[in-house]
Amino acid sequence: MGIKVAKFGGSSLADENQFRKVKKIVEADPDRRYIVPSAPGKRFSDDIKITDLLYRCYDMAKSGENFEKEFSLIEKRYNDIISALSLSLSLEDDFTEIKSALRAKVGRDYAASRGEYLNGKILAEYLGYTFIDAAEVIFFDENGKFAAEHTNYVLSERLKRTERAVIPGFYGISANDTIKTFSRGGSDITGAIVAKAARADLYENWTDVSGFLCADPRIVKNPRPIGIITYRELRELSYMGATVLHEEAIFPVKSEGIPINIRNTNKPEDCGTMIVASVSTMRTDDENQNIITGIAGKKNFSVITLEKDRMNEEVGFGRRVLEVLEHHNVCFEHLPSGIDTMSVIVDDSLFSKDKNEIISDLFDETGADSIDVESGIALIAVAGHGMKNMRGTAAKIFTALADANINIRMIDQGSSELNIIIGVNNDDFEESIRTIYGAFEN
Ligand code: ASP
Repeated sequence: MGIKVAKFGGSSLADENQFRKVKKIVEADPDRRYIVPSAPGKRFSDDIKITDLLYRCYDMAKSGENFEKEFSLIEKRYNDIISALSLSLSLEDDFTEIKSALRAKVGRDYAASRGEYLNGKILAEYLGYTFIDAAEVIFFDENGKFAAEHTNYVLSERLKRTERAVIPGFYGISANDTIKTFSRGGSDITGAIVAKAARADLYENWTDVSGFLCADPRIVKNPRPIGIITYRELRELSYMGATVLHEEAIFPVKSEGIPINIRNTNKPEDCGTMIVASVSTMRTDDENQNIITGIAGKKNFSVITLEKDRMNEEVGFGRRVLEVLEHHNVCFEHLPSGIDTMSVIVDDSLFSKDKNEIISDLFDETGADSIDVESGIALIAVAGHGMKNMRGTAAKIFTALADANINIRMIDQGSSELNIIIGVNNDDFEESIRTIYGAFEN
């Protein structure tokens, strides 16, 4: 028998009907032994996620307001699920405890984490699985960083003794014994941590879409679904704005080579997207023919270009540039360089606040002859394993953009040849994505 860890997102557990679908999925495969739930999400577009309601209650409690009305919405959602599923479980004692903790202002993370905690209790009862409180097995160190080793040791020992369990996502315990959460959407990370500790064969991430699409469907009509993608390709695309899975969720499973399968709770018959270490053995011939795996991008970057005669002979020039950025707490995204020029691409939201000081510091520290800043740049990443062995991929992209009259502001190809980054004006962003997609997919 193998081991699968299945994480179910908020929309997969939003109400009793979704719970029923989840049970069916879990029972369809005895390998699904460890289940990681999110808190109930939205049932319809104007609905409020339980996590958001909990944050609201916390904020109200903090400012001394009465949060009873908001909290009763939370109680009702859980109680509705419990009674519709005819469970004998009662959460009344938990509700009382949480309310008094809120009044005592125990912490924002504690408040938010209760969404997963309560949902985990219900799901464990419904599935007949053991409930393991994440506060007993997921740890953060004294600096608030996830304590990977300690967690892996404690959690894997616990799972060895537990045949089937529900472990709520999103939170753990910090060194000072208070509850701490990951960033929003963090149940994906918990799922990956559990998969690693369980030495799972597969980490299934159940959500409300059938995996990743080759491009954003709000920009490209009916983009091709991605059947299989490597961790590295996915990292490029999620960093550039493709959202489905939390960015951090890749790391725990990547190191163990555990594949991630993105699946749709509402369409369990779809295979979804498989995220793997290497594609060569798993891709079908059809998929192998796809030179590019995906296109994603983000707007609002600035390109700072420094020019200095004989820059190429000057030791430490790049370091000085990066130190100035570090000093202003601005991280860089890309560093395309020429012989006597160096460009640094930075996020506008970080750079624009201190723009004048940064430029003046750059002049002082580097003695550059000129510094030019262009803002309002969008970056587009074209990722794909097939690009490596295929001549003419870059030419195809650039010709298509030129034919569409789009001005390319910057090009950067990582040495891995896994992706090409193209900078265009913000206004050309959507059209560029459509043009590149069209060049490969039609
Ligand atoms: N419930 C949390 C959130 O809404 C975590 C999660 O769903 O993964 O961000």
